[in-house]
Amino acid sequence: MTDFDLLIMDWYRQNKRDLPWRRTNDPYKIWLSEIIMQQTRVEQGLSYYLKFIDTYPTVFDLANASEQEVLNLWQGLGYYSRARNLHFTSKTIAFEKNGKFPNTYKELLLLKGIGTYSAAAIASFSFKEPVGVVDGNVYRVLSRVFDIETPIDSSEGKKLFFELAQNLINKEKPDIYNQAIMEFGALQCSPSNPNCSVCPLSTICLSSGVGTITSRPVKSKKIKITDRYFHFMLFNFDGNTYLEKRINNDIWLNLYQFPLIESRDNSEITNWEKYTLNNPSKVSSEIKHILSHQRIHAKFYHFSEKPNTIDSNWKKIKLSEIQDFPLPRLIDRYLENE
Ligand code: SF4
Repeated sequence: MTDFDLLIMDWYRQNKRDLPWRRTNDPYKIWLSEIIMQQTRVEQGLSYYLKFIDTYPTVFDLANASEQEVLNLWQGLGYYSRARNLHFTSKTIAFEKNGKFPNTYKELLLLKGIGTYSAAAIASFSFKEPVGVVDGNVYRVLSRVFDIETPIDSSEGKKLFFELAQNLINKEKPDIYNQAIMEFGALQCSPSNPNCSVCPLSTICLSSGVGTITSRPVKSKKIKITDRYFHFMLFNFDGNTYLEKRINNDIWLNLYQFPLIESRDNSEITNWEKYTLNNPSKVSSEIKHILSHQRIHAKFYHFSEKPNTIDSNWKKIKLSEIQDFPLPRLIDRYLENE
């Protein structure tokens, strides 16, 4: 299928979106954009990319920021481990490599938070190394065009798709080709409404011929979702409140939240006697918050006096200062609607 790369690149020339990270080959900017855009819609990620570039124009600026500042700027984007890894790796580049990014796929893979996808993206976009990117869009396009039944989350599938991407890449313009196939997956061969009636690949697309489009790509595992029940205590006294920092190896590491009691089910919680003998003046209705492997059921309990006792990781702050702390999106949303 020799024309595959040319057809995809031709489509890209006519249909691509004009995005700021496509106008540069600076590895710092490309790395930032790739980490921000993972599991994020372009419309949402774009504003974060611009904020990061504006606040930290160079890798040295990012490396010299505190982790709390970086998490604050990241707030609302989710998957906070990406922000922590981003900050960690900025220090590696700035202080151990004098600000110079490694310029090969293999060396990029050694950096924290940079997996096969990001390494291929940076190596090809910045340094024109011909290594094929394989993200969710590429899995979908290739599994449909070649009607591949092998599950994409199996080790066999990962190897097969990586090799196929490698065979198909345009060696002269690997940067354009990789951008093109991802954009094609995002706009043309989309998950639920692929635009097959006006598609330059329709004559060679095997799934289109045999009617398997909606069942490609194949995944073998179903993600197991765990339900968790969070009860946040929102103390409000003289314009002050308490936040606690999440320090355990769990979701939202190093973010701040209202002091939390977690229960095993959704029964009404009343065991806050350790902190206050009063009843809450207000209890919110349940808020559901979906993460990749967890479904959080949250309630907020308002108390209009100070607690009797506090835990060592609690911090007293002015309610007006709350946005200075990196908060999980769940809490930020609750405050927005309060
Ligand atoms: S014909 Fe449809 S399924 Fe096949 S590549 Fe084009 S948009 Fe995707």
